[in-house]
Amino acid sequence: MINAVPKAFWDELLSELGADAIDHSPATIADYGANLMPSGDRMPGGVLYPASTAQVQQMVQAANRHRVAIWPISTGRNVGIGEKSPVREGQVVMHLGRRMNHIHEIDETLCFAEIDPGVTFRQLYDELGRRGHRLMMSSTSGPTDGSLVGNAIDKGAGYTPYFDHFGMTCGLEVVLGDGRILRTADGASPGAKTWHLVKYGFGPFLDGLFVQSNFGIVTRAGLWLMPRPPVIRCFIFSFPDDDDFGEIVDLIRPLKLNNFVPTLFKVTNDVYSLGTVETYPYGRTGGKTPLPDEVRGELRRQHGIGSWTVSGAFYGDSEETIRPLIERVRKHFERSGKARYTSHEQALESRIFKIHVDTFSGTPTEEEMPLHEWRPGGGSIWFLPSTPMVGSIANQHQRMSRSILARYGFEFITEYVCTGRVSRALHPLIFNRQDPDEARRAAECYRALMQAYAEAGYPISRAPIEVQEEAMARLQVTPEVCRDLKRALDPNGVIAPGKYGIV
Ligand SMILES: Cc1cc2nc3c(=O)[nH]c(=O)nc-3n(C[C@H](O)[C@H](O)[C@H](O)COP(=O)(O)OP(=O)(O)OC[C@H]3O[C@@H](n4cnc5c(N)ncnc54)[C@H](O)[C@@H]3O)c2cc1C
Repeated sequence: MINAVPKAFWDELLSELGADAIDHSPATIADYGANLMPSGDRMPGGVLYPASTAQVQQMVQAANRHRVAIWPISTGRNVGIGEKSPVREGQVVMHLGRRMNHIHEIDETLCFAEIDPGVTFRQLYDELGRRGHRLMMSSTSGPTDGSLVGNAIDKGAGYTPYFDHFGMTCGLEVVLGDGRILRTADGASPGAKTWHLVKYGFGPFLDGLFVQSNFGIVTRAGLWLMPRPPVIRCFIFSFPDDDDFGEIVDLIRPLKLNNFVPTLFKVTNDVYSLGTVETYPYGRTGGKTPLPDEVRGELRRQHGIGSWTVSGAFYGDSEETIRPLIERVRKHFERSGKARYTSHEQALESRIFKIHVDTFSGTPTEEEMPLHEWRPGGGSIWFLPSTPMVGSIANQHQRMSRSILARYGFEFITEYVCTGRVSRALHPLIFNRQDPDEARRAAECYRALMQAYAEAGYPISRAPIEVQEEAMARLQVTPEVCRDLKRALDPNGVIAPGKYGIV
C-alpha cells in the first residue's frame, strides 16, 4: 500500500544523490502532471532525475523503504497517451531522459546501438548522420524528442522494415521493483560479447515482461539498425471515396504478405492529413461540428488529396532497379480504376505527402505535430484498435468509427498502418479540453469506441493512462498472472501501481 511521499524519502535522496536528483517544487509538479486527457491533469508527488543505473537502483531501494510509488518515463513525450503524468496521482515521476541520455555504442559492422532510455529519435538520427548515414533507424511520425526506449517498451512502431520497435531491441538492462539489476538474454552471462546480438539467449525470454508493464525500469537497451539503402523511393496513391478503404486493404494485403513491398503501408484519411496543415474551419462551418462532408470535400480539393492517401516505399541500389517495382505496384493499384498516383519527387513538393517520404526514410519529422491543434483547447486521446487486413471487415471498422465519432460530435481522424495480416488503426481523438462539454463527450466517445470494438472482437493494443485499468479489467486470467508476477518482482508495489492495469 502506497502512502503520500514522506519527507524522509526526499531527505535521504537529497543527502545521498544531491539536489540534481530530485525536485518536488509546485512548479515542477504542475509541469509533470499536465497531460491532454479528458479527465484532467494528474499531479505526481515530485520528480526524480537519476544519472545512472546505480542511482535508479538507489532510488528504487529508497522507494521500498519508504513505500513510495515511482512512475518511470524516458522522455514523457507520449502525446495523447499520457505525456509525463503518472497513471495515479501522487506517484513520483522518475524522468530517466534528463540525465541518462547517452549513446554508448554504435557498431556499424553488426548494425546495432547500445543506448540509454533518454536517447531521442532526433539524437540517434543526428549521430548516424554525423557518421555518414551508413545506418538507418526506424522512427515514429510523432515527436522527434520522444525516446526510442520509451516508445519500444510501450509497443510503439514505425514504418520501415524495422517498424517493430520492441522487436528490434536486443538485450535490456532493467532495475526490478525489488532493486535487483537484471540484464536479459546473453547480458546475464558475465563477460558475454553477444548481449545485443542474440535476442533470445538461454532460458525463458524475459524481455517481454517489461513491455507495457510495471515490473521494472529499463535503464539500457540494445537496438538493431538497418544498413541505409543507397536509394529510397516512395509511392503514393490517392483514392476519392470513404468506402474505397475496403478495396485498398485488399490491394495491400498480397503485397505485404509476401513482402514484395518492404515497408509497411500507411493509409491515411483526409482529416488526418488536413490536420497537419489546417485547423478546424469553424468559419466555414458556421461553428458547426463535426465537420460537414461538403466542407471536408472542399478542403480535400483545396489540398489535392483524396479521402485516403496510401503510401509505401522501395529500397534499392539505384533508381533504375526500383523503377520497375514501382511500375508493378502502380499497375496493381491502378487496376481499381480509382487510384491517382503521386511520385516520390512530386511528394517532396507537398507538406502533407513529404511526411510519408520522411517516415519511410527513417527520418524523424515534426510535421505531424500540428494535428494536435486541429481543434483549439489542447485535448487529445488516442484510440488504437487492430483491424484485420480483409477489405469487408476494414470497411465495417471505418464506418463504425466514423459513426460513433460523429454521434459525439467529432471527426474521424485516422491512419491505418498496415502489415499483411493486420493494421493498427491510429485514431487521435482531438477535442477542446477547455470546453467541459466537449471534454466530457470525448471521454464518453472513447469508451463507446472501446466498447464497440471489444464487442466486435477487436481489442485495443496500446492505451492512454486514463483507460489502462479498464482495458486490463476486460481481460481474463492475464490480470491475475500479472498480479502474481508483480508480487514476485516488486513485492512492495513501488513501480507504477495501476500502469496497464497491473496492481
Ligand atoms: C502526431 C503524433 C504521431 C505519433 N506517431 C507515432 C508513431 O508513428 N508510432 C508510435 O509508436 N507512436 C507515435 N506517437 C506516440 C508517441 O509520441 C511516442 O510513442 C512517444 O514518443 C513515446 O516515447 P516517450 O519517450 O515519450 O515515452 P514515455 O512517455 O517516456 O514512455 C512511454 C511509456 O513507457 C513507460 N516507460 C518509459 N520509459 C520507461 C523505462 N525506461 N522503464 C520502464 N517504463 C518506461 C512509461 O511509463 C510510459 O507508460 C505519435 C504521437 C503524435 C502526437
